[in-house]
Amino acid sequence: MAFTVDLSGKTAVITGSNSGIGLGIAQELAKAGAHVVLNSFTDRAEDHALAEEIARETGVKARYIQADMSKGDECRRLIEEAGVCDILINNAGIQHVAGIPDFPVEKWDAIIAINLSSAFHTTAVALPMMRKAGWGRVVNIASAHGLTASPYKSAYIAAKHGIVGLTKTTALETAEEPITANTICPGYVLTPLVESQIPDTMKEYDMSREEVIKNVMLKRQPSKEFATVEQMGGTTAFLCSDAAAQITGTAISVDGGWTAL
Ligand code: NAD
Repeated sequence: MAFTVDLSGKTAVITGSNSGIGLGIAQELAKAGAHVVLNSFTDRAEDHALAEEIARETGVKARYIQADMSKGDECRRLIEEAGVCDILINNAGIQHVAGIPDFPVEKWDAIIAINLSSAFHTTAVALPMMRKAGWGRVVNIASAHGLTASPYKSAYIAAKHGIVGLTKTTALETAEEPITANTICPGYVLTPLVESQIPDTMKEYDMSREEVIKNVMLKRQPSKEFATVEQMGGTTAFLCSDAAAQITGTAISVDGGWTAL
């Protein structure tokens, strides 16, 4: 049997997809033929324009739905408003860096809500839709920090380890059905989020841009190269393909060797 990634006729909902990894995944899934629903908490003309551009370039149906992933009822509304959800990508995420005694409680709550609880809410509404359709794929975007820890990122690391666990449970609850659930654990990916941290880190360590990238950001990434949004999109498309039908409950690292250390 020859395997290709043909997602024609499927609809993918990607949370947090008006930039970075989420947008990259939406673009790759659309190239593979899936209709896509983009999301973030803003409702700007440029958000809707992203969906229009994907539709124009690939010929799939694409739309943007505003919904705030920090709120459970908004997460549920996103999937309900999409109407169909064959492929669910839980990608929305934020970060905050501080030691545990100083970690602002509101930041802890927001990170747990956006990076972890949102996936519970969207999955709860999407699974019955997948069951009705007789096919489904859940891909949760965790991090190398879903498998290992670093200091000063307690909420992020707790949430990302949590998402790896939620994915395993989702996989077991759907194991006898044509539905799979997996986590992708990226290392550093050069997205706007990461790019914006470079100038401050240059100042903090009195380093050049190249030194910050190599000696700070990619210190734990043995390949010494950023992973790319296209690689995240390609890995997601693979997990949605027939070749991956028996891959479920796993955490796939795309991290240049970080977790092999
Ligand atoms: P990004 O800031 O470009 O993307 C985050 C997305 O989440 C954006 O679209 C943003 O609008 C959205 N978002 C934030 N708060 C939201 C909310 N309340 N409701 C809805 N959407 C919201 O960052 P990114 O680097 O593309 O990160 C995407 C995911 O990948 C995150 O879960 C992040 O933890 C994970 N990740 C990123 C890296 C990396 O190096 N960039 C590494 C590992 C994991």
